[in-house]
Amino acid sequence: MKSIIRKNTYQAIYRLLNRVSPLPTDCGQLCSSACCNCGGDGCSEESLDFDMGIYLLPGEEKLFTRKEDWLKWNIEYAEDYEFPASWSGKVYFVRCKTPPRCPREMRPLQCRFFPLAPYLTENGELRLILSTAELPYQCPLIAEKIPLQNDFVKATYTVWKHLIRDPLIRDLVEMDSKVIRNNKKCTEIV
Ligand code: SF4
Ligand code: SF4
Repeated sequence: MKSIIRKNTYQAIYRLLNRVSPLPTDCGQLCSSACCNCGGDGCSEESLDFDMGIYLLPGEEKLFTRKEDWLKWNIEYAEDYEFPASWSGKVYFVRCKTPPRCPREMRPLQCRFFPLAPYLTENGELRLILSTAELPYQCPLIAEKIPLQNDFVKATYTVWKHLIRDPLIRDLVEMDSKVIRNNKKCTEIV
């Protein structure tokens, strides 16, 4: 699957997001890093929970060697799952083997954005909402609507504004937004 986002653009995005976080303190202390936890027993490779993985965005895999010892890689095919019709071929799915320990500067984008998610209005305008994904844990930032740091929200918005210039990524956000519009209540942050 060919993304128009280049490797050096993804690197710049990683650098920008390295400088921000949802709260001034480590929000993992509120929940024992619930969104990192791989589930299962002691996070052995066999017990890694499939629900707790992270899909890389198209082209994001260019930042990795796939030999990282802290990640377990799965290659899937877009046609086999609920991805936009424009998607075809390989999709990379990773699970963290040693949560919450990881090289922070290499955290995949979907990990960095959480608990924010992109949302496109019917007019095609980009908003950020609190994630409405069904998850096997509760995030206190969502459950208690804890205010998020302004620079985190701004950086995340800037990054999504850029990412949705890629038609594949825009199609993904549009697909998720339609589901949210039809079935869910959401909390807009910006
Ligand atoms: S984003 Fe939510 S679930 Fe993840 S570590 Fe922070 S508070 Fe916990
Ligand atoms: S990349 Fe790091 S912070 Fe993100 S889920 Fe994995 S272990 Fe947790």
